[in-house]
Amino acid sequence: MKIGIVGSGMVGSTSAFALVMRGVGREIVLMDRTRARAEAEANDILHAVPFAHPLTIRAGDYGDLVDCRVVIIAAGVTIVPGETRLQVLQRNVAVFEQVVPSILQYAGDTILVVVSNPVDIMTHLAAYFAAGFGMPSTRVIGSGTMIDTRFRALLGSRFGVDAQHVHAYVIGEHGDSEVLTWSLATIAGMPLEEFARIRGAALITDMEKRQIDEQVRRVGYQILAGKGATYYGIGSAVARIVDVLLNDQRAVLTICSRIQGVVGCEGVTLGLPHLVGGQGAMSVIPLPLKPVEQEALERSASILREAIESLKLTSPGNADLSDEAAGVSNDGAKSENADIAASAGNGKR
Ligand code: ADP
Repeated sequence: MKIGIVGSGMVGSTSAFALVMRGVGREIVLMDRTRARAEAEANDILHAVPFAHPLTIRAGDYGDLVDCRVVIIAAGVTIVPGETRLQVLQRNVAVFEQVVPSILQYAGDTILVVVSNPVDIMTHLAAYFAAGFGMPSTRVIGSGTMIDTRFRALLGSRFGVDAQHVHAYVIGEHGDSEVLTWSLATIAGMPLEEFARIRGAALITDMEKRQIDEQVRRVGYQILAGKGATYYGIGSAVARIVDVLLNDQRAVLTICSRIQGVVGCEGVTLGLPHLVGGQGAMSVIPLPLKPVEQEALERSASILREAIESLKLTSPGNADLSDEAAGVSNDGAKSENADIAASAGNGKR
């Protein structure tokens, strides 16, 4: 099973390393605008193979992506300390305009996994450009809020429970407006209050909630300030997503994809729990949120919607970027409008 990675910077190469260490796939092709970088990373990671799993890894060109089941897009310009994720958007649009068609020219049946930031918008853009090739948006997914699992880690340490046994979702934008779904957090199938009572632990206070919320929301910025990049968490999340895709695992993951059927989020790409299988995002799972959480989710969706609209991807009458507008019918077949939408997207931002 072949996996392509376009963009062999810190995130792309760490994703490759995580795939090797986890033993996901059989062949990895690393690509980069700077071929020497891709070759250097592939050779370096190849030295880890004897200590991990039998995989081949090499540098390649777009033509080498033929038959890739999954292509990870980690290409882009880096976020710099002090810059918000949304500010890097404009610089990354041009990269995707070139990268997505180049991938699909050779790997038309692949699933795209987007990790470039701002990830929700870049995933939306990738789906937009991919629609010109007849690809349904369910086959274009982003890492979403998967690495905001720090929420689970902090709750786990608060209650003295392994984070793997804490269920707590972060939804919405992967960024400042993301929403911690406190009302749905459970340990051992119980709400936190109930679990605290059974364990004889103190109830979690509003002050503690605010502190955890702040830590989850700000930690990415702290890491950037300290070392200029983040890649271990995201690389591990990518390996998990690819494992789920290649093995049709039907896992519930907070990836991002273009949302349909969730109040306040229609047509926006953001993070929500999805059922993920071999064909990509099988379905989104709407959550029974408290009104305050629902409002926060809708606020997050409208921030993303505004950012997308600011790109002016299509003519005003065709700005909703829906599958229909992009020319993809329900069965994923390409219609005549696809070329029109794609060429409008290529020409204007
Ligand atoms: P990150 O920390 O997000 O991985 P990096 O700057 O380390 O950021 O990596 C981004 C990578 O994307 C760089 O290696 C850069 O050369 C690559 N890249 C940028 N534009 C393109 C492009 N159009 N095609 C392929 N790779 C690209």
